[in-house]
Amino acid sequence: REALNRASEHIARGIVDTLAYKELKPEDLEPVLDDILIDLVESDVALEAAESIVAGVKEGLTGYRVRRGEPVEKVVRDALRKALLTLLDPGPRPDLAAEARRRCGGRPLVILFLGVNGTGKTTTIAKVAYMLRKAGVTPVIAAADTFRAGAQEQLAVHAEKLGVPIVRGRYGGDPASVAYDAVKHAESRGFCAVLVDTAGRMHVDSNLVEELRKIVRVVKPDYKILVVDSLTGNDAVEQARLFDEAVGVDGVIVTKVDADPKGGTLVSVAHAIRKPILYIGTGQRYEDLRPFDPQKIVDQLLG
Ligand code: GDP
Repeated sequence: REALNRASEHIARGIVDTLAYKELKPEDLEPVLDDILIDLVESDVALEAAESIVAGVKEGLTGYRVRRGEPVEKVVRDALRKALLTLLDPGPRPDLAAEARRRCGGRPLVILFLGVNGTGKTTTIAKVAYMLRKAGVTPVIAAADTFRAGAQEQLAVHAEKLGVPIVRGRYGGDPASVAYDAVKHAESRGFCAVLVDTAGRMHVDSNLVEELRKIVRVVKPDYKILVVDSLTGNDAVEQARLFDEAVGVDGVIVTKVDADPKGGTLVSVAHAIRKPILYIGTGQRYEDLRPFDPQKIVDQLLG
């Protein structure tokens, strides 16, 4: 009798469940997901990234049981919010100032800056120098772009304004040796961090890749940070892939976010290389470097 009771209870619960819940099918999800895909692309998320994110949400929700009457749209948007947050917030981001401080008196924290000319790399290095200096850990700047005319002078102007030392090289000279000298200089004078500028020719050719790899071998950077311009969309994605394949990228700084109200490039770049965005550039002044806030950008994208 007990077994019979249990069985009938089970059946009754099954009936209640069938009435109260329903399993989501692809055809329930598709209309909402089509709208979301359009929203993402209109926010300048690259089509490839938008399609892949939407496909992930669809897969995750197919077969998911929702209460009857619960709007599918809300379920989908919640899942999308979660997917975007996971993508943009893959784990703890380094606190560069704290890490540099821990290195004082020993081997300095070496940060290599990668990126194509015009993205805002020079300005970003100056902003990071300003941030570190304000936190009490003055860095040495290594002007290891010995290729682009004016690169050394441009950095020297910032270094002087900021009151941070700079180690320069000859144009046409070996960038790896400039970076090496800067690390030695920091070590011997007790500076806790070295910010290494690198060349960023528009065509990431094999010479540039070799040059960057040599710098990496010689100074063994703690972080290789890629600088991309949020206004360049698919180019930024392409650059992220190229630099990541060439030397490996640990984190990204996206510049000119102040001029990009939509912010889709942040999603596209994160999706392309699955590396964290560390900071965003929000203007031309030294103060205009902010820690990246994934929640804020997701709110902005999803409204
Ligand atoms: P590089 O060639 O990559 O070294 O680029 P620069 O650092 O010289 O920057 C190129 C231009 O972008 C300059 O006019 C900078 O002031 C500007 N810039 C850099 N970062 C930002 C940013 O976050 N917001 C805005 N609005 N302009 C920026």
